[in-house]
Amino acid sequence: MDTKAFKRSLHHSENYHRKGFGHQAEVATQLNSEYQSNLIQEIRDNNYTLTLGNVTIRLAQSFGFCWGVERAVAMAYETRKHFPSERIWITNEIIHNPSVNQRLREMQVEFIQVQDGNKDFSVVESGDVVILPAFGASVQEMQLLNDKGCTIVDTTCPWVSKVWNTVEKHKKRECTSIIHGKYKHEETIATSSFAGKYLIVLNLKEAEYVTNYILNGGNREEFLAKFSNACSAGFDPDTDLESVGIANQTTMLKSETEQIGKLFERTMMQKYGTVNLNDHFQSFNTICDATQERQDAMFELVEEKLDFMLVIGGFNSSNTSHLQEIAEEEKIPSYHIDSVERILSENSIEHRQLDGSLNITENWLPDGEIIVGVTSGASTPDKVVEDVIEKIFELKAMAVV
Ligand code: SF4
Repeated sequence: MDTKAFKRSLHHSENYHRKGFGHQAEVATQLNSEYQSNLIQEIRDNNYTLTLGNVTIRLAQSFGFCWGVERAVAMAYETRKHFPSERIWITNEIIHNPSVNQRLREMQVEFIQVQDGNKDFSVVESGDVVILPAFGASVQEMQLLNDKGCTIVDTTCPWVSKVWNTVEKHKKRECTSIIHGKYKHEETIATSSFAGKYLIVLNLKEAEYVTNYILNGGNREEFLAKFSNACSAGFDPDTDLESVGIANQTTMLKSETEQIGKLFERTMMQKYGTVNLNDHFQSFNTICDATQERQDAMFELVEEKLDFMLVIGGFNSSNTSHLQEIAEEEKIPSYHIDSVERILSENSIEHRQLDGSLNITENWLPDGEIIVGVTSGASTPDKVVEDVIEKIFELKAMAVV
C-alpha cells in the first residue's frame, strides 16, 4: 500500500479531523477541574519542594501531562461535545492512564474490544465517530475505518507523526528502519505499519546482536527466530541490513536510542567506510521533547539524597517505566504505582517492577525524617500525584492544610 498517498487523501477527507471543534475554552475549564491540582501547583511554585513535619517531598522539575497528552484528552472531550448523540469509539486507551480512560467511559466513549489478540471492529458502523489515541493507529486501522464511512478524530501526537514521516523517508531511500521500541506497543505497531522493511530492537543488547550480525554474519535461523515478532514480512538479515535508518518509539530511554544510533553508525562506517556512510546509514532525531525533559529532570533528582522514589503512571506506560529505570540504576528504592490505591498501608505498597510483574513490598515507608522523590509519566494527571502525596503525609500522621 502507498501509505503516504493514503494518508494524504485521508487528510483531505471531510470525515477526518485532527484539530479541535471550537470548544477549547469550555473543555479547558472542565479538564482543569478534573485533572489539575492546587497542591501540585503550590509545590511547583515552591521550588518543587514541600516539607511538612518530618516529610519532605521533592518533585522532579519536569513531570506529568505532556503537551501531546493534554491535546489528545482535550480533543476527546471536544469530540463528545461536538457529537453529543453519535456513537463514539476509541481504538485503544486514549493515553496510558486508568483514571482518564475511566472518565471517557463515563462520557459514553466506547473502547474497541480485543478478541483473541485482534481488535473487533465489527461493532463499528458507518456514521460512527472513532477517536484515534495520542500514540496513533496503524495505517490498516485507519483504512478500515475510512472504508466503513466513519468520522475519524485523529489525536495522534505530532511527535509520533514525525516518526512516521521518518520511516517514510527510510522507505523512499530503500533502507531498513531500525525501530528502537517495544514490538507490542501500540505506537510501535503504528510506526511499523508506515515503514517498508523494518526491524524492532528493544534495547542496546538486541542492537549489538544485530550489528554483530552485520559485521560478522551469524546464524540466520536464530536471527529470524529472535526477531520473529519484530520484523517486516519476508525480512532477510543477509540482504536487508545493508542500509539502515534509525527511528524510535518516542517514549524510549533517550540515552539508549542515541547509543543505538551511534552503534549502527559506527558499524556501517566499519563495514562500508566513512566515505560511503550516507549510502548505508540515515539518522533523524525522533525523540520527543517531553520524554527528554522528564528523563533529564529525573537524572537531576536522583543525584539528591532521597530515601525512596515514587514513580506514578499507568502500568502500561512506557515512558513511566523508563523513569523508574533511572532510579533503579542509581540504586534508589523506587515504587512504580498507578494510583493512590496501590499504597495499601504504611506497611505495604503494591507496585510494578521493571520486568512488568506486580510486587507487594512490606515496610516500605521508613520511620522518622524522610525525603521522598516524586515524578510521574507523561500521561498522569496532577490530581493522581496529589492523592499520592497527601497519602504519604497522612500515613506519616501529617495533615495537609
Ligand atoms: S510523550 Fe511525547 S510523543 Fe508522547 S504524547 Fe507526549 S509529547 Fe507526544
